[in-house]
Amino acid sequence: MNYRCMSLRQPGEPLRLEQRAVPRPGAGEVLLRVRACAVCRTDLHVVDGDLPPRRTPTVPGHEIVGEVVQAGADVAWPVGTRLGVPWLGYTCGACEYCRGGQENLCERAEFTGYDRDGGYAEYVVADARYCFELPDSLDDLHAAPLLCAGLIGYRSLKMAGDGRRLGIYGFGAAAHIIAQVAVRQGREVYAFTRPGDAAAQAFAASLGAHWTGGSDQAPPVALDAAILFAPVGALVPAALRAVRKGGIVVCGGIHMSDIPSFPYDLLWGERVVRSVANLTRQDAIEFLDLAPRIPVETHVEPFALEAANEALERLRSGALTGAAVLVPTAQAVAP
Ligand SMILES: [Zn+2]
Ligand SMILES: [Zn+2]
Repeated sequence: MNYRCMSLRQPGEPLRLEQRAVPRPGAGEVLLRVRACAVCRTDLHVVDGDLPPRRTPTVPGHEIVGEVVQAGADVAWPVGTRLGVPWLGYTCGACEYCRGGQENLCERAEFTGYDRDGGYAEYVVADARYCFELPDSLDDLHAAPLLCAGLIGYRSLKMAGDGRRLGIYGFGAAAHIIAQVAVRQGREVYAFTRPGDAAAQAFAASLGAHWTGGSDQAPPVALDAAILFAPVGALVPAALRAVRKGGIVVCGGIHMSDIPSFPYDLLWGERVVRSVANLTRQDAIEFLDLAPRIPVETHVEPFALEAANEALERLRSGALTGAAVLVPTAQAVAP
């Protein structure tokens, strides 16, 4: 039996619809029928070649909601279980990072939709140890963005500390989820969008943002921390300017344009700039437990699998509100 996927042959080219034979899961793996796969900015960086290709062809997609159709040896999930597959697809368990509780930094990590074929497809094989059950309160379409926008956003929020006044630069899929968590935690959210993007500012306000403005504006008060989800290096000095002494600036994306030089004075006063890389399984356990208790609601725009290029283009141009989600339509037939 064959299945359809959207494949990247060469960075810079559009994805191509291809047919492949449905694989069999090996020991410790599950074969999932993909029910939804959200589109992440990292996919755009892979497709555009901002991230160097690790293998071609590649099927992107690492916010996968799937249903177990076949389980390999030593897998406890029964057929029919709904699972989520995130960006972290494999770690070695042996390097100093894995042993030190930082598997997100594993030297031999493999990432879904980058090192391993991802969810822009009707079927996907995943290592069962990196799959998670999802909250019942969200359907497939609305659960998919939790798996990266939610998880990486949550890790970014933890790294931002406990400060009350939180800036968020770039109000897309991750921001719209994390703003809900932050508001529920009693924080004031200051949402910075593309200058003049009134629709994004209204969206942020509807989710409880205390203040909204353009990324070229200064907030009305000094912030305790800021998270950058926009892949724009020039926002790092802007965010440093916006935080108080001791404030933390977290870069939440995997790729960013170059950071322009800035006066040391902006960093002085024990301000901190840091990145957040990938996720740990512990992040996933914590966030997937927390999300239904907020409760996080996701705003999604569904696309057919074959429309993946269109979804990526809409993300690139900033035309999305919330997250794009691909919805493959394969029938639920075990191969
Ligand atoms: Zn490792
Ligand atoms: Zn992602």
